[in-house]
Amino acid sequence: MTEKYDAIIIGAGIIGAAIAYELAKKGKKTLNVDILPAAGYGSTSNSCAIVRVYYSTLDGCAMAYDGYHYWDNWAEYLNADKGEDLAVFHKTGNLVLKTESNDRMSGTLGHLDALDIPFTHMTTDQISKEFPFFNMSCFAPAKTLDDPAFGEPTGGSIEGGVFFPKGGYVSDPQLATQNIQHAAERVGAEFLFNRRVVEIPTTDNRVQGVVLDDGRRIEAPIVVNVAGPHSYQITEMVGAEKDMRISTRALRQEVVHVPAPESVDYAANALVWSDSDAALYARPAVGNKILIGSEDPPCDVHQFVDPDDYDKNFTDQLTVQAMRFAQRFPEMGIPNSLQGCVDLYDVTEDWIPLYDRTCVDGFYLACGSSGNQFKNAPVAAKAMVELIDACEGGHDHDVIPLTYKLENMGHEIDLATFSRLREVNQDSSFSVLG
Ligand SMILES: Cc1cc2nc3c(=O)[nH]c(=O)nc-3n(C[C@H](O)[C@H](O)[C@H](O)COP(=O)(O)OP(=O)(O)OC[C@H]3O[C@@H](n4cnc5c(N)ncnc54)[C@H](O)[C@@H]3O)c2cc1C
Repeated sequence: MTEKYDAIIIGAGIIGAAIAYELAKKGKKTLNVDILPAAGYGSTSNSCAIVRVYYSTLDGCAMAYDGYHYWDNWAEYLNADKGEDLAVFHKTGNLVLKTESNDRMSGTLGHLDALDIPFTHMTTDQISKEFPFFNMSCFAPAKTLDDPAFGEPTGGSIEGGVFFPKGGYVSDPQLATQNIQHAAERVGAEFLFNRRVVEIPTTDNRVQGVVLDDGRRIEAPIVVNVAGPHSYQITEMVGAEKDMRISTRALRQEVVHVPAPESVDYAANALVWSDSDAALYARPAVGNKILIGSEDPPCDVHQFVDPDDYDKNFTDQLTVQAMRFAQRFPEMGIPNSLQGCVDLYDVTEDWIPLYDRTCVDGFYLACGSSGNQFKNAPVAAKAMVELIDACEGGHDHDVIPLTYKLENMGHEIDLATFSRLREVNQDSSFSVLG
C-alpha cells in the first residue's frame, strides 16, 4: 500500500519541526523525513542559539522580536505537558558594540525605533563598570594570525554600545527541537528518521511526494525543503533552481568553547556580546564556558563545501576566534587544547533566508537560514504555513507578494523579503548578523 500524506517536510531541524507543528495544528497529515537518528541533530545541534532582535532589515528585526515572545513563553507555545523537560531560554540580554563597521548601529536602531523594540545606549564607561574584565580598546580591522599586527590595539576606545533587554540564548538547541517535535506529534505529525530523500517525482510540474533511500515511495502534493546545508541538493533534485535569483550553499564554520577564568562567573555576569571590532560574537555556556563565533570579517576566507564531505577537524579559525576574544578579555587565557565544534551554515548571497514557493507546484523552500534563523523558527513556520495555504489556494505569491501579520507584535512583514526572486538585498550586513 502506498503511504500518503498532505505534506512531506524534508528535514527535522528546528525549522522543519516547527513547520510540521504549524501544519499539523491546521489538521494536515504531515511527515518529516531526516537522514539523522533524531530531531535537531543536523546543523541545529551546534547552533549557538542566540536570540536577538537586531538585524539589518526592518522585516528581519520585526520577525526576531516576534520570535522572542515564543521563547519567552516556551511552554505555552508548545502546549507542553506538565513536567516535560523543556529547553531553557537564558534572558541575559545582548550588548552590541558601536563600531565604524556597523555604522554605530544607526540603521538598525532606526528599524527598532520604528517597531518600538526596546534598547538603551551605554557609554564605554558604563560598559567598563558593568563588565570590568573587558578591555575596551579598538583592535579593528580584524587580522589573520600570520599578520604581525595581530592582537595589537589600533588606537582609541570603543564608542559605547547598545543594550537589548529582549534577548539571550537557548542553552540546548537540540532539546528545543525535540520539544517542538513532541508538540507536533501531540497534534498528529509523524517523523521518520534514518532515511534519506533521494528523489522527488513530479507530474505536470507538480510534486508527487518523495522516494527514500530504501526505495520506499511516499505520496504528498506538498513537499517542503527544510534540509539546512543540504537544501541546494533537494532544490536541484526537483529542478526548482531554474528561476531562483538567490541560491543556497553550505558554508563551513567553527565555534570555539573556552573556559572562563575562575575569577569570573561568566554565566552570572556576562551576556550575549556582539563585537564587530574584534569580529566575533560570544555568549555564556553551561560549566562557566564561553562560546565564541565569527562575525565573518573580510580577512577570513569563506569555505563553501560539500555537506556530505567536508573537513570536520579544527583549523586556525578556532584559535583565531579564541585569540580575538582574548584581546577583549585578557584575563580569559587560552587553553593548550581548544574545544569547539565544526558545522555548516546554509548561506544565501545576502545572508537572508528563503521562505518561498518555487516554480514547481507544491514544492516550497524554508532554507538559506545563513547562520541566523534558529531564533526565528516558530515565526518562520507560521509564515510558511500561511504562504503554503495561500499558494495551494491559487494565490500567485510571485506576482502579488503575501504579507504575514506577526502574532505577537501585530506588525505585517512583507514575505517578498524572503523570495527566491528578490535582488540581492544591499541593506544586508552580508554576515551571520543577517
Ligand atoms: C555554528 C552555528 C551557530 C549558529 N548560531 C546561531 C545563533 O546563535 N542564533 C540563530 O538564530 N541561529 C544560529 N545558527 C543558525 C541556526 O542554527 C539555523 O538557522 C537553524 O538551526 C536551521 O534549522 P533547519 O531546521 O533549517 O536546519 P538543520 O538543523 O540543518 O536541519 C536540516 C535537516 O535536514 C536533513 N536532511 C538534509 N538532507 C536530507 C535528505 N536528502 N533527506 C532527509 N533529510 C535530509 C538533515 O539531516 C538535517 O537534520 C547557527 C548555526 C550554526 C551552524
